[in-house]
Amino acid sequence: MVDRFGATDGTLTVGGIPVDRLAARVGSTPFFAYDRAQITQRVAELRAALPSDVELSYAMKANPMPALVQHARTVLDCLDVASGGELRVALDTGIDPGDISFAGPGKTVDELTQAVAAGVLIELESELEARRALDAGDRVGVRPRVAVRVNPSFEVKGSGMRMGGGPQQFGVDEEDVPALLAQLRDTDLDVEGFHVFSGSQNLRAEILTTAQELTVDLVLRLSEHLDQPARYVNLGGGFGIPYYAKEAPLDLAQVGDGLRRIMAERLRPQLPDARVLLELGRYIVGEAGVYVTRVVDSKVSRGQRFLIVDGGMHHQLAASGNFGQVIRRNYPLVIGTDLSAGDVETNVVGCLCTPLDLLGDRVPLPDAEVGDLVVVFQAGAYGLTASPTAFLSHPTPVEVLV
Ligand SMILES: *Cc1c(COP(=O)(O)O)cnc(C)c1O
Repeated sequence: MVDRFGATDGTLTVGGIPVDRLAARVGSTPFFAYDRAQITQRVAELRAALPSDVELSYAMKANPMPALVQHARTVLDCLDVASGGELRVALDTGIDPGDISFAGPGKTVDELTQAVAAGVLIELESELEARRALDAGDRVGVRPRVAVRVNPSFEVKGSGMRMGGGPQQFGVDEEDVPALLAQLRDTDLDVEGFHVFSGSQNLRAEILTTAQELTVDLVLRLSEHLDQPARYVNLGGGFGIPYYAKEAPLDLAQVGDGLRRIMAERLRPQLPDARVLLELGRYIVGEAGVYVTRVVDSKVSRGQRFLIVDGGMHHQLAASGNFGQVIRRNYPLVIGTDLSAGDVETNVVGCLCTPLDLLGDRVPLPDAEVGDLVVVFQAGAYGLTASPTAFLSHPTPVEVLV
């Protein structure tokens, strides 16, 4: 982690700036800082590993900070939004609306109307949504662009969060798609293709490859039910990042090789001109972010050391282990101005009055004092906007892109 960010004189740097100086620049702790260069580099690694005819979309819900989305727009091909609010931020970047997709269950009539008016692609999650999109098209006088989000019959193992296969609130069950397409055939909906998203946070290349293979076969089968071959194929994503000491990073080269083969052998022979996309959130931004807190108090309780910091689970819920994790493990964290290997077993806790607010459970750290900075890594995705910021009524932390 430290290597990716860099260090000077034993102090962590973020975007080349020593973290204590960055804290002074930001003016308040806690704060989130995202490293622009790391996002750029991550996208370059993806481009180098993946087939050149696969486009990359940024799933904004991972981190919708407007400056970051603006940067993502310059290095990626598309933006994927999951609410009317995200749609506005995406459109503000100046991206071609043709390069925005809108997924997610429970899109309201208002959101669908906004999406149709904007000219973005709606990933339909149900038959009712299809009818609402049609109505919106009538009202606005624009032909809605849609793809059908498919809930596949297969399940992808090894995902941190499964979002396809079995009974799901997401998408239309694979077996019901032909009937839906038949219903939509003579309507004014322009069905461009399909979207399949099976799950999130997967670290196993061979499983991702199998999922992509099954997804492509599914899309090819469903494509035969369209009047013309699918023009849009969104293969989902699910690329994971390592959060804990024992997790190995995803073998991106292996994923790339697998997808190159799938494209060449299966997809391109049948759909030579289709737009093919992967949509990724955490893989693009998760590792590029840190959450920086300051030690407010330090004490020993019955032999155990506690550092109490000014942030906590209300900003970085996932690091406390309460964001869907089954077993709580520590996210990597350091003392920002002392990166030496410490041996003081330390509990790092947040400032909320609940035992759930635990950031580090008996972590070996160097000696630290009140006023020192505790930096939590892997904070670029599902941090601030995925946390209960109103819990205990503390101020909302600043976010910076450096
Ligand atoms: C959440 C989500 C993503 C992004 O998932 P990551 O694990 O952040 O890559 C992509 N597509 C859809 C449809 C999603 O709901």
